[in-house]
Amino acid sequence: MIRVAIGGPRGKMGQQAVHTIMNNENMELIAVLDHKEIGKVLSEFPGFPASYDIPVFLDLESLIFSTKPDVFLDLTTPHQVFEHTKLCLQSEVRPVIGTTGFTDEQLQQCKVLSEKYQVGCIVAPNFAIGAVLMMKFAAMAAAYFPDVEIIEMHHDQKLDAPSGTAYKTAQMIAEVRPLHKQGHPLEEETIAGARGASYDGIPIHSVRLPGLVAHQQVLFGGDGQLFTLRHDSFNRQSFMSGITLSITHVMDLKELVYGLENII
Ligand code: NAP
Repeated sequence: MIRVAIGGPRGKMGQQAVHTIMNNENMELIAVLDHKEIGKVLSEFPGFPASYDIPVFLDLESLIFSTKPDVFLDLTTPHQVFEHTKLCLQSEVRPVIGTTGFTDEQLQQCKVLSEKYQVGCIVAPNFAIGAVLMMKFAAMAAAYFPDVEIIEMHHDQKLDAPSGTAYKTAQMIAEVRPLHKQGHPLEEETIAGARGASYDGIPIHSVRLPGLVAHQQVLFGGDGQLFTLRHDSFNRQSFMSGITLSITHVMDLKELVYGLENII
């Protein structure tokens, strides 16, 4: 049995993850971390059944000290995720990080800590298998189509932009694509931001609208042709198989893995 703790159990992802772990016969949900008083056990919070007598902690250090989880699944916000990850690694608890918004520098620091303490860690910008394949295929296509733009679309409650998925897609494309100036050399923005953000010259456009969940298109332009890769997460169930896969896999790791494409 893998002993799992979850950060952010009231959130859109967190609620679904709680049910997923509770229904997994190889995993045990032993604690959750919140930052607001929601009761002593999870069942006191509306929406969770009376059988969910899982202790709620307001502080990660006490959670780790009292319950000693094997894995901490973080589904909180970009503001705390780095501190949570560092604390887990130093306490020999394996972090599985779904929260997006890590900077390259923070990721590097976590990599170093993971190796130092020999504690496995998975940082997954997207747990949906289809989105992971989209990133892989985008990197393959970029070798043939160097002119590429990314459009990511999310619900309007998302805190970070661009999305972790768009950022990772751009990184994977940049690794295989020669540095390349796109568009007209003299192009000008008459409204700032019109051409989107730029990662290594790859434009990224972030759309935020109610009704959306998580969607991305990668557009490749060539002579007389357009090649589009698209992935849609219509609901958060799409992320759950990637979460259980990561929790299982992290138990055998002694280093940090960034992106599910490295373990599927
Ligand atoms: P959400 O609905 O806002 O949930 C975040 C939850 O974390 C909220 O309940 C929030 O409480 C709580 N929280 C904030 N600070 C906390 C802390 N210090 N300790 C414990 N809980 C804390 O967001 P979501 O849509 O579930 O997404 C969560 C994260 O996962 C985001 O970073 C999102 O980008 C990412 N995400 C990743 C994937 C993936 O496949 N990797 C997929 C979807 C989303 P309050 O609201 O009361 O502040």
